[in-house]
Amino acid sequence: MTERFDALVIGGGLLGCATAWMIARDGGSVLLAERDQVNQHASGQNAGSLHFQLEYRMMEHGIEAAKKAAEAMPLHLEAAKLWQSLPAEAGEDIEVKQSGGLMLAENAEQAALLEQKTEIERSWGLDIEMLDRAGVQRIAPYLSETVVAAAYCPIEGKADTRTAAPALARAAMREGAEVRTRCEVVAMRRERSGWRVTLADGAGERREIAAGAIVIAAGVWTTAVGEMIGAELPTIPLALTMTTTLRVPRFVSHLVQHAGARLSLKQALDGNVLIGGGWPARLMRTSDGRPDFEARPELLRESLAGNAAAAIGVVPRLAGIPALRSWVGTTTVTPDQLPLVGPVPGAPGAFVATGGSAFTLGPSFAEVLTDLVAGRAPSTELSSFDPQRYQEARA
Ligand SMILES: Cc1cc2nc3c(=O)[nH]c(=O)nc-3n(C[C@H](O)[C@H](O)[C@H](O)COP(=O)(O)OP(=O)(O)OC[C@H]3O[C@@H](n4cnc5c(N)ncnc54)[C@H](O)[C@@H]3O)c2cc1C
Repeated sequence: MTERFDALVIGGGLLGCATAWMIARDGGSVLLAERDQVNQHASGQNAGSLHFQLEYRMMEHGIEAAKKAAEAMPLHLEAAKLWQSLPAEAGEDIEVKQSGGLMLAENAEQAALLEQKTEIERSWGLDIEMLDRAGVQRIAPYLSETVVAAAYCPIEGKADTRTAAPALARAAMREGAEVRTRCEVVAMRRERSGWRVTLADGAGERREIAAGAIVIAAGVWTTAVGEMIGAELPTIPLALTMTTTLRVPRFVSHLVQHAGARLSLKQALDGNVLIGGGWPARLMRTSDGRPDFEARPELLRESLAGNAAAAIGVVPRLAGIPALRSWVGTTTVTPDQLPLVGPVPGAPGAFVATGGSAFTLGPSFAEVLTDLVAGRAPSTELSSFDPQRYQEARA
């Protein structure tokens, strides 16, 4: 007998685990298939920032680009609410702390950019205010006096990347979801009333299952999984660098970002300061020039130095705190920097979400996917994120 599920979720990162949990809670039978282990890739390697302001990468190309990126703000606002209630609703001790985030300006030009940015964000309903130098020092005395202004968003914060996805996988299982690791989706074909999917286990043994709907939550593998069903789901891979310091008594109480530099930093509850913000690592390539996601990207000395300089520049105390470990991970953005969320074009009953800050936005992506799987209209307007836009651009 072929096993049947209402939904198959492909990928056991934060997004896949959150989606499986929400579908199961919604009463659907769901199988989560993860090729490796839960949380082994981007979701377990990232910085854990819950950033609801527009990030530096969304502003560095000017204010028009920032306005476009702000179209995702409804997903940010929903994610902020969902993260807050996630530990209680999932019944798991997920380290979520939303104690505020600051985006810093060290000169008048950056301060003016922040003024424009906050105006856009406020127009979408984000709670955000500008602080002057004295205001910054009042709430964040650990910052350098070179910081002349900051955009302060009280709902920003962080979550623990080591525990969040596994906690949601456990919550999904408690709701009746099946989670299979070392279980790779290798082929899918559309049938009259759903999908027939071929799974391969770690030993290469194959079996087929049937699923009413499929959810692609495959991170950097989204494009490749889309190709299995003839769909164009364009993503751009980015290999990035992270560093953590030794544990020190807590002194950084916010998520800190910068309006003119690649920087995000925060202090974990156990005292390590996590430093990142988009500094590149070198993505490996296969012999035919395609990105090789199986190979670890190369850590670049200049990224480590640049990231450390950016961090020490605004938090001078970091100069005296040894780094403990640096690592790399690979994530995706889309060609227009907006998330890719919605039905897969030409593949009825297949849905996808990826792109950008899919850790921060994972819960709101999962909520949308759960609605789509159940045949409900999502409460968030999705037209800007619809994968169909790339089909139309090609036509
Ligand atoms: C260094 C770094 C720092 C970052 N910092 C932040 C941050 O601070 N805040 C933020 O919001 N975002 C951040 N990001 C981005 C964020 O990590 C990702 O957007 C997010 O984790 C993606 O989650 P996901 O579940 O979609 O993908 P992943 O976590 O990559 O999971 C996808 C899973 O799909 C599985 N899979 C793929 N193909 C198949 C298949 N055929 N069959 C079965 N399984 C399959 C993979 O094995 C993988 O486990 C960062 C990323 C990096 C690399």
